[in-house]
Amino acid sequence: MAFEGLTNRLQSVFSKLRGKGKVSEDDVNEAMREVRLALLEADVNFKVVKDFIAKVKEKAVGSEVMDSFTPGMVIIDIVNKELTDLMGGSQAKLAKSNRPPTVVMMAGLQGAGKTTTSAKLAKLLLKGNHRPLLVAGDIYRPAAIKQLQVLGEQIKVPVFTLPEGNNPVEIARQALQHAKDNGNDYLLIDTAGRLHVDEELMEELRQIHEVTKPDEVLLVVDAMTGQDAVNVAESFNQQLTLTGVVLTKLDGDTRGGAALSVKAVTGCPIKFAALGEKIDALEPFHPERMASRILG
Ligand code: GDP
Repeated sequence: MAFEGLTNRLQSVFSKLRGKGKVSEDDVNEAMREVRLALLEADVNFKVVKDFIAKVKEKAVGSEVMDSFTPGMVIIDIVNKELTDLMGGSQAKLAKSNRPPTVVMMAGLQGAGKTTTSAKLAKLLLKGNHRPLLVAGDIYRPAAIKQLQVLGEQIKVPVFTLPEGNNPVEIARQALQHAKDNGNDYLLIDTAGRLHVDEELMEELRQIHEVTKPDEVLLVVDAMTGQDAVNVAESFNQQLTLTGVVLTKLDGDTRGGAALSVKAVTGCPIKFAALGEKIDALEPFHPERMASRILG
């Protein structure tokens, strides 16, 4: 299960604190040393860990905590609150344009889960009484177009594509017009992925951005890849200005590094979490729930 190692480590640190009627500064320092190691082991970005520990310590060594009857509990609360803040504080909602369609561009490396996530997001929007249109823009991987068409059929959401020979920028341009003509209030553009971030890919994404002026640019990253996911997010963000991140594969045994670092490193909030291959396995990301889950 995701975060299992981190949760176990934190629980053992906190169970020691919880048992104490009084907590000394040494106790706090010792606990924070262990929390620091647990976070590093969970592949959380080094600088993020450093700042996090400094913030928690600052709050935890105050007299209010030391004099409390349940200092251990107070410290756990502080950690909970800081973990929540680290992941963005409150839920970051999907944009909604007051001039529909709201354009959502999906970006990410190959295999991150972009195509699947596009369909899952369409399903979520459908449940919210929206009329999404999916756009198959990954022309370099013909299977991706077929994959999106199959998913679209399954959830009864139309999939826009053009015959072979059209480039993704043209597909996106025409799809936008199609959405306007047909009353689709969300346009979800599945773009091409590559194995690595490269200039050609970025140029294509920039051009799609130019013609569709998206309200959201969501980067889909595989949470299982830990700090690599964060590095990918950082380089996409430098070139494309992301508005949010979708973390996929949180159903796997990810250690937690991506979830805990990506907001702090890139400034982009995590907007959705994918927790499985099934079409329903996408949820809005709630930092406070995730923090509680990590603390176990
Ligand atoms: P793309 O290349 O980024 O479009 O990636 P795909 O959408 O084709 O997904 C790649 C693989 O990851 C597929 O086998 C998906 O079923 C799988 N996948 C996507 N999201 C999740 C998830 O949240 N959990 C799990 N376990 N698998 C996922």
